[in-house]
Formats: sequence, C-alpha cells, structure tokens
Amino acid sequence: MEILDGKALSDKIKTDLKTQSETLKKKGVVPALAVILVGDDPASQTYVNTKEKACNAVGITSIMHRVCSSTSEEEVLKIIDSLNKNPEVDGILVQLPLPKHIDTSKVIEAISPDKDVDGFHPFNVGRLVAGMDGFVPCTPFGVMKLLEAYGINVRGMDACVIGASNIVGKPMMNLLLNASATVEVCRSSTKNLKEHTLRADLIVVGVGKINLLTSDMVKEGAIVVDVGINRNEEGKIVGDVDFANVAPKCSYITPVPGGVGPMTIAMLLTNTIKSASRRQK
Ligand code: NAD
Repeated sequence: MEILDGKALSDKIKTDLKTQSETLKKKGVVPALAVILVGDDPASQTYVNTKEKACNAVGITSIMHRVCSSTSEEEVLKIIDSLNKNPEVDGILVQLPLPKHIDTSKVIEAISPDKDVDGFHPFNVGRLVAGMDGFVPCTPFGVMKLLEAYGINVRGMDACVIGASNIVGKPMMNLLLNASATVEVCRSSTKNLKEHTLRADLIVVGVGKINLLTSDMVKEGAIVVDVGINRNEEGKIVGDVDFANVAPKCSYITPVPGGVGPMTIAMLLTNTIKSASRRQK
C-alpha cells in the first residue's frame, strides 16, 4: 500500500507556481485572485483564510471582499461586475455556500468564464464535458494531478465515484471519462452502494460522512481517494473512509488530512496563474 501524498505534491506545485508568478511579474503582470465571502460562517472563513495565505506564498495578490450575511444579491452581483471589468483581476472566487436569499446559480453565472478559476460557470462545465480546455473545478482537478504524479493511468479502469455534486462528483466523473476510465456515479439514492464499489479499481468518495467506505466495500488492490472532510467526536479532521481498515487492502490511498485538501488549493492557484498567463499573452 502506498500513500498518495497530496501535501508533498502540493508543496512542489506551489514552488513551481512561485517561479511562474515571478516570471509574470517581470513581464508586468501581477497575478491576482479576488475572493468574495458573504457572511461569517466559521468553516468558510477558515477556507478563505487558507486560500489567502496560499496566494501570498506563491506571489498571487489576493483581493478580499468580506461582506456581511445580509448583503443583497444585487450588491454581490455589483462586486462581481466590477471585478469582471478590472483588467488586473485574473480570478474571481465566491466562497460557497451563500446565504439563502442569494441565488447561487445567478452569482456563478455572473462571473466572467475567463476569470472563473473555480470552474463552476456553465461555460466551463460545458467545456469540461466536451473534453475541451477550460477551467476545471479544483478538487477533482487535484485528484487527477495526484493520480498522474504517482504514474497511475486510469485508462480502462472501472472507477466508482461516490457523491454527485457539481463541485466534486460530476466534474470527477467527467475527468475520469475524458481519461478513458469506465465510470459509475453513486449517490444517496443508490440502491446498493457496496455492489458498485466492490467492482471498482478506483474509488473516489466525496460525501461528507465518517466511515462511509468500509473495508468490506473495497476489493483487494483498489485505489481509494478520499475527498470527504468531517470533524470526528474528538474534533479531529477525518475523511469518508475508514482509513485504518481500508488502507491495508489498497494499492494506493489518500490520507485525510494531507491528501486531496492541499491539492484543491494548489489547483486554485494553478488556475489563477493560468488566467494571468493568458492576460500576459
Ligand atoms: P454535497 O452535500 O453537495 O454532495 C454530497 C453527495 O453525496 C450528494 O451527491 C449525495 O447524494 C451523496 N451522498 C450522501 N449520502 C450518501 C450515501 N450514504 N451514499 C452515497 N452517496 C451519498 O457535498 P460536496 O460539496 O460534494 O462535498 C462532499 C464532501 O467533500 C464533504 O465532506 C466536503 O467537505 C468535502 N469536500 C472536500 C474538498 C477538499 O478539498 N478535500 C472540496 C470540496 C468538498
């Protein structure tokens, strides 16, 4: 069994990105990511702070818009409009979830597809489905980079994705399909999850439930990627996989923390530098 070390790979990627951002700066382009945070949800604040620190570490300017939870949809759309028009902004990220009075789809569609570094705009979703170049959602993008770095080619593999959200499961499915895997997507309405996971050479689980994937659900030698982030009773961060019992059966497995999480941030920075490079051209 080998650990897929997302922390180590993300550090290496960040070192490369720092060099790229220095090169861009010499050519007069200062890469910049704008982040909009509506409200004071503690988890969202932590994510945004992590993203800000990561930007600073690689020389990307982070432009923070922290607004209160009662901010109107119109006001959020106005901020996005001004960022769309600002030539010095390469990426725009709206931290989700948004308060209930704001229409998330409307906000995502307001972001210019050229600055949509989260890859959630329908334009970029369509390009991903069609196998065309665009911004790819950071978490599944990070999973693919991690597999690639360990020389894992998913071509011909039976892959099982658990979770079908727009952020994790659906783009994960498309990336695996584009890489010639045979993909099954399971969700809460799936009748017999184990029947699907037991067939899989590769399982990617992103649900948000502690110990959802247990050792009896995994075939010998499978690759397991754990996207889940949960806090256990002791307050520790854990994934969706019963790691202690599943790991011995796997050929490769990601830890939580230190697996997919750091790769997600590294891909956000990668997408921002990609956008800044386009500006330079
Ligand atoms: P979501 O709530 O939008 O989607 C959850 C999905 O899981 C749904 O499709 C649902 O049908 C499915 N599901 C629920 N119960 C299930 C069950 N018993 N069996 C099979 N499927 C089931 O969540 P999300 O935003 O996609 O996030 C999922 C998890 O991934 C969360 O723990 C989240 O914190 C984590 N996450 C991690 C990263 C990262 O960087 N590591 C990034 C995004 C999300």
